[in-house]
Amino acid sequence: MVGGQSAPKAAHDSNRFQVPQAPRVLSTNGEIGASRRRVLEHDNCGVTTRNSKEKQHFGDDMARLKKLIAGNWKMNMLHADGAALARDIVEGADSTACDLLLCPPSTLVSWIAETASGSVVSVGAQDCHEAENGAFTGDISASMVRDAGGSHVILGHSERRHGLGETDARVAAKTTAAHGVGLVAIVCIGETESERDAGETLNVLTRQLDGSLPSGDDDGDINGTNTVIAYEPVWAIGTGRTPTLEEVAEAHAHIRAHLEKQVGEAGAGIRYGGSMKPENAGDLLAIENVDGGLIGGASLSADSFLAIAAAATT
Ligand code: PEP
Repeated sequence: MVGGQSAPKAAHDSNRFQVPQAPRVLSTNGEIGASRRRVLEHDNCGVTTRNSKEKQHFGDDMARLKKLIAGNWKMNMLHADGAALARDIVEGADSTACDLLLCPPSTLVSWIAETASGSVVSVGAQDCHEAENGAFTGDISASMVRDAGGSHVILGHSERRHGLGETDARVAAKTTAAHGVGLVAIVCIGETESERDAGETLNVLTRQLDGSLPSGDDDGDINGTNTVIAYEPVWAIGTGRTPTLEEVAEAHAHIRAHLEKQVGEAGAGIRYGGSMKPENAGDLLAIENVDGGLIGGASLSADSFLAIAAAATT
């Protein structure tokens, strides 16, 4: 079970100051970020003797320390409101023992990254294109997210899969692009209501994991450092409805087991998303294999977002 214990704060602080040039990627359930990885590799933590397998294992141990509570602001917030929300969250964040991530619209990533700079809050984007650059009007690349101060990117959200026809293959290509510049990819998967009604949930999750995570020569290196899976039942997003705790447990156990086969033991952490709010967060986050949450509506208020974070740490 992934615990809610806090990682030693000093470790994060020293990472931050030792590698100031890299966007900060906090250690969440296994997502030891680019800066931390670099620190490990350069002996700034006194662990240079670890070989890469040991490092991965170390990462896996770190993975058991903290949950990640991520806010997906979707297409909400102009600068003034977004900056105020981020400020309130940053101010309230020190009392939480989980990692916090804000994913504002791309127009605000650099503003919010500046607001969150030096705090325990990380910043990410809601999507990126798979190409490095080019004639893709309206899109942003993974390196643009990083350049703006982002450390994470949400990929394959159902509003893009179902609203914009994004395929598993496209999500996999975007994941490769994100990894290529050192971003943590938050890869969303989840069944529609009709798929659940048809008893297809676990098959859908298997299919989406197989198709949405790069493999082989493309990028076989999916691990807890660079990838997060968000299980988001499509019918629970923004509806106020959630699966039963047993259904969430079943889905997460299935994802965990499949990831272990697909990418090995050091597989990505798994977050639940879909109408998580302060009232249900404690129960959802206590389920085995639920390593945190991806929160939409309730992330638009500092009080409710921080209340969910508090539920993740108790
Ligand atoms: C989401 O969009 O990722 C999400 C989980 O939304 P909500 O919390 O509003 O259901």
